[in-house]
Amino acid sequence: MISMEGAEVAVIGGGPRGTSVLERLIAHRKAFVGPQEPLTIHVVDPFDPGPGHVWRTDQSRLFLMNTPSLFPTVVPVGGAAAEVPASPVPFDFESWRTLAAAGGVEGLTPEERAEAARVGNAGFPSRALYGRYLAWVYAALTADPGEGVTVIHHRREALSLRRAGARWELELDGGEVLGVDGVVLALGHLPARLNPEQGVLQDGAARFGLQYWPPAVPGDLDWKRLPAGKSVLVRGLGLNFFDVMIQLTEGRGGRFADDGTGRLAYTPSGREPVLIAASRRGVPYRAKAAITSYIPRSVSLSYCTVDTLGAFAEAGIQPGFDHDVWPLLHRDVLAAYYRTLARVRPDAFLRPADAALDELRTALDIAGPGWLPALQEFLDRNVPAKLQLNVEALAQPFAGRRFADSAALTEAVLEYLDEDAASSARGEDDPLKMAIGAMNAGRTVIKQVVADGGLTDSGWYAELRGWFEPLVEGLASGPPPLRIAQLAALVRADLVRFVGPNPLFALDPDDGVFRASSPWVGDPGFTAGYLVEAMMPANQVSTSLSVLMRQMLEEGVVRPRLRMAEDGVPVVSAGLDVTLPPYRPLSGTGETQPGLYVCGLQLASVQWGTAIAAESGASLNAGARTLQDADAIAEALIASIRDSPDLQTADSRA
Ligand SMILES: Cc1cc2nc3c(=O)[nH]c(=O)nc-3n(C[C@H](O)[C@H](O)[C@H](O)COP(=O)(O)OP(=O)(O)OC[C@H]3O[C@@H](n4cnc5c(N)ncnc54)[C@H](O)[C@@H]3O)c2cc1C
Repeated sequence: MISMEGAEVAVIGGGPRGTSVLERLIAHRKAFVGPQEPLTIHVVDPFDPGPGHVWRTDQSRLFLMNTPSLFPTVVPVGGAAAEVPASPVPFDFESWRTLAAAGGVEGLTPEERAEAARVGNAGFPSRALYGRYLAWVYAALTADPGEGVTVIHHRREALSLRRAGARWELELDGGEVLGVDGVVLALGHLPARLNPEQGVLQDGAARFGLQYWPPAVPGDLDWKRLPAGKSVLVRGLGLNFFDVMIQLTEGRGGRFADDGTGRLAYTPSGREPVLIAASRRGVPYRAKAAITSYIPRSVSLSYCTVDTLGAFAEAGIQPGFDHDVWPLLHRDVLAAYYRTLARVRPDAFLRPADAALDELRTALDIAGPGWLPALQEFLDRNVPAKLQLNVEALAQPFAGRRFADSAALTEAVLEYLDEDAASSARGEDDPLKMAIGAMNAGRTVIKQVVADGGLTDSGWYAELRGWFEPLVEGLASGPPPLRIAQLAALVRADLVRFVGPNPLFALDPDDGVFRASSPWVGDPGFTAGYLVEAMMPANQVSTSLSVLMRQMLEEGVVRPRLRMAEDGVPVVSAGLDVTLPPYRPLSGTGETQPGLYVCGLQLASVQWGTAIAAESGASLNAGARTLQDADAIAEALIASIRDSPDLQTADSRA
């Protein structure tokens, strides 16, 4: 029951998603013409609201974003802004950064101001600086939340959520219990149970006095605990790896400088450990291309578009990924590659490049499966074998290769890194990076189309998430180019070594050490007393260690969504079971519950790619989808408060 003092809602989680919900609540309130009841918004987060956990402003400034300044926003701007009530703080990160660089943001440290000025719109800011932006947006929102609105931050963890009559009871650590009319779960990245293999390594570490570092947010860790000169096994060569790498080298006083040949050289401080790095593919994520936009300017999609993918649903077909979606995106990826090749190296074709491109277009335009033989004919007639692009092979760069020893492997990885750095530096003129750019552009389209049941369950699991996601992540979600050049320098300085593809990690009880080896490398592998999992805890509600999530699951406040695998066996999906937007979690018995909403990572059951920030200027149902979700939740909450019979009674009494 809504009290005479007005309505109260709780936003659990004050990270980017929670901040977007707060911003949308305030925007809707401000846009409404007419009398409104008082509204108290409780933001619950043990971390500073705005940055929350991931974007803490006190983390190492060496931890960079993997999206450029021009990309992220936490509020609707540009095209997205026109579709919803105006933002009271209409700043994306880039416009805030420009303001900060010009001295227009109060309270920044000299270091923060200098970074804002230095990083540029296509550069990669530190996560701490993005956290400053988020904190600034939050502060601006709460400084003027509008008439009748009070925002209270509780620096607490929410421990339990239960229905209590017509309201919700939210228990916080420390014992306080909030009674609220609406609740938004914006929980983001949660701690997760280790998988059985990780559990064995952790137990073994405790027995033998080794250090096992489970998956974690890099900003949480005390890196000083890894001693100089020791070997440290690092599992994972994705984004967290680059945080580990830079913190333990430049972060320990080492210096990178141009070696005079266009490559970087590293001068150690002597305080670095030696990193023994491993991942399934054996090589790190590829670097971002050095370009001035998020999607390369020369890339446009002709086949994998919202219209073509949307046509399946219009025809009553729920598409599969391999059968329906990938063949379209595959065409665009090939087109981007060969068009760029024709532009930068027309002589590389066996026939005149213009004619070759015409032939390619004709092949790609064939609607049915006939496009593949036609493509093969195009390749045979026009492109030397070593310049032909095999997209699937990019997933396994060392497939079929054996290495006599780790020196041979290191040489191969170095070659790969140098080539990747050079390829990034060519920017829009690099055919492979443009092919990857097309794949990244397709990712946004696919994300839009597969949401809310737009893909078959088996297409979702075995195909989209099974092989495409790791492929596109490894190719398009990599670090800034600088990090790859730095990694190559560290390999030359013998401070980073590699285990090889398909690595095996084990605890050796005889010697009391961790072992890592690859079946494809002749050496016996490496041993170490330290093992760092360079990855985030799994985003999976059913294995979450969050006290709140576990309580909600156990008491049936929420439930995970089940999907059907290829063989018809139900599979517990990563996210919660929810309604269509505005997303409302279903209870254990499948019912919606008044006033309860969810946004962000726990929607991994119905959306693909829930973690990435909203893209500035993108439309609300595409790159700025998280803002659309926040807007829909805010609108629904405000409407339910306005329409509440309790408030109308209170109104008529007033
Ligand atoms: C290390 C890292 C780097 C990233 N880099 C990028 C990048 O460069 N570009 C990009 O676009 N995306 C990046 N991402 C993706 C990132 O997930 C999103 O941009 C964003 O942080 C998601 O926002 P969120 O609010 O949903 O989750 P979070 O940022 O995780 O925030 C959730 C908040 O909820 C709080 N919370 C959780 N449970 C409770 C509870 N029970 N009680 C109270 N509070 C609670 C947490 O403390 C946290 O502050 C990165 C993610 C990580 C982890």
